[in-house]
Amino acid sequence: MSSHTNTEAILETLGRAFGFTSFRPHQDEIIAAILSGRDVFAALPTGGGKSLCYQLPSIVLSGLTVVVSPLIALMQDQVDAAKQNGLAAAFLNSSLAPDEAERVWRSVHDGTTRLLYVSPERLALEGFRGKLRELNVSLFAIDEAHCISEWGHDFRPDYRSLAVIRAEFPSVPIAAFTATATRHVQDDVIRILGLHEPVTIRGDFDRKEIFYRVQRKEKVAEQIVSFVKQHRDEPGIVYRATRKSVDTTTAKLAATGISAARYHAGLSDDERRANQAAFVRDEVQVVVATIAFGMGIDKSNVRWVVHGDMPRSLEAYYQETGRAGRDGEPAEARLFFGPQDIATARYHIDRMELEQERERAEGSLRDMLRFVDAGVCRRTQLLAHFDQDHTGECAGCDICAGDVRTVDRTVPAQMAMSAMVRTGERFGAHHIADIVVGTTTERVEQFGHNEIPTFGVGAEHSRAWWIRLMQDLEAAGLVLRRDGAKSGFSLSAAGRSVLTGKETFIAIERDDAEIERQIGGRKRRSNAPEPSDVPDDDAEALFACLRLLRRTLARQQGVPPYVIFSDKTLRGMARLRPVDESALLDVHGVGETKAARYGAAFLTAITEFASSGECRDDAAPTNDD
Ligand code: ADP
Ligand code: MG
Ligand code: ZN
Repeated sequence: MSSHTNTEAILETLGRAFGFTSFRPHQDEIIAAILSGRDVFAALPTGGGKSLCYQLPSIVLSGLTVVVSPLIALMQDQVDAAKQNGLAAAFLNSSLAPDEAERVWRSVHDGTTRLLYVSPERLALEGFRGKLRELNVSLFAIDEAHCISEWGHDFRPDYRSLAVIRAEFPSVPIAAFTATATRHVQDDVIRILGLHEPVTIRGDFDRKEIFYRVQRKEKVAEQIVSFVKQHRDEPGIVYRATRKSVDTTTAKLAATGISAARYHAGLSDDERRANQAAFVRDEVQVVVATIAFGMGIDKSNVRWVVHGDMPRSLEAYYQETGRAGRDGEPAEARLFFGPQDIATARYHIDRMELEQERERAEGSLRDMLRFVDAGVCRRTQLLAHFDQDHTGECAGCDICAGDVRTVDRTVPAQMAMSAMVRTGERFGAHHIADIVVGTTTERVEQFGHNEIPTFGVGAEHSRAWWIRLMQDLEAAGLVLRRDGAKSGFSLSAAGRSVLTGKETFIAIERDDAEIERQIGGRKRRSNAPEPSDVPDDDAEALFACLRLLRRTLARQQGVPPYVIFSDKTLRGMARLRPVDESALLDVHGVGETKAARYGAAFLTAITEFASSGECRDDAAPTNDD
């Protein structure tokens, strides 16, 4: 087969099985590499379409495709989603009863299962691998491959056992997938899995559909409630740092009539599972969670992610915000950040036992603080973290959108730092503020600090203003606390450069109440590549109607709604209003299997809406059995 026909055959399979007309970036290269028997390392961002890179080959390859996936709880959903596209998928993990597992094995043997999801624990079992060796395995796909690396944000010791695959299946290609793009992780994955001259792909990590905005925390629970109210009916995730704040934030949302479920490690497995399922199935609008939530959640219509506290690292922030907008439609990431976040982070760092761990955490904190407080495009900063160049301006962050004013604060910075130096670099923000404002407190008197030249030089601003300025200095890395959260400020080398006038200090100035008002009144700006949803009232109403139908169908089958059709597909239907199956097949995301299974139900709903202008209120018909 020439490579030309090959490409055509693959494109044809893409349309027939998945209903897509084109590949996302790099999917075709990855699939071609796999089909030619090469090993692959692919770092593509969340939502980049990694699953399809092994699912499509599983249709074409003669033998079995084995997918290793870390989360047992999600395997069922992944397999359900694959089956919706007509793929011969099944899974094996410890949640299956022996007779169910037996049935899966039989289906693997007789070839009715071609795509087998397994947990890493399962693959670690010698007996299991022995059985696999008797079969014709065509491909091992390792999903979330960063779990193998301690440099990743999700290290899992059981992923290390995947190192045996190469030795025991020397002729079977291995394809590793991850959304974690740092070089450390890439090197670890290639080395530990023993990939042989892998085709290495690094995608574009810019999530153009996400708008990034950072705001000062005032009363954060109230800020979150007001944010969610501005995003009515849009599914979203609120991340909080502690279980307690998850509980109180959930209660606060619920008290204002917003449907919200919580998720953290303190809940029973049952409650966690039920709450996650309710969110995935669009039965609650919001999930409030600690970082325990989200990895591998394939819900594609998450419209926003809010951080009520500062994340541990830019990596974590990128992954967490990356859960929004996976369908490519506009989404927003909002981070609320305040000085107590810095204190908390320092507290944890001070408690770390290992020097190396402490250093890594210090570095992460510095990067994170620069991200929130530098007047530099957020996207540029995020991408720089992944070694990806960006022009320095975008249409999707608060800095570039001009929501944030920057001001030259070199002179006040010099005043505060001069007071620090003159008092021996051992006092904290409150005492230094008293000095520059010129307040003779007992302590100021006791040390004779009312005698120094900087006493009272900053009386034009309030004490609170100065404290905030010093927080900004700390965030910018100009001043440090060498001995933990409680110690006084000392100057860094960068701080000295500002003090001596060699460098300037540019701070972000924002009037949060004003910004909130502006944002409330205007729709999020979208910089997504396709303007797919022209807001037309009828299309909106039909979209709502199709969503209801999707939910009913999903309930009947016990699967999440998005595995039936994505929001994007429903919007496409609402806009194009197909009247027959062939028109329906032209809608993005509708393949033959889904058209055969759901086409009639959706076409009926569309026709009825066109004639009556409203939704049918009876239950959707089941037409798949
Ligand atoms: P990842 O695992 O890389 O985060 P997924 O495999 O879950 O991403 O895919 C994210 C979404 O993109 C899914 O809804 C999927 O159906 C969709 N998708 C994948 N490939 C394509 C494509 N070629 N065209 C359109 N949508 C796609
Ligand atoms: Mg994935
Ligand atoms: Zn920007």
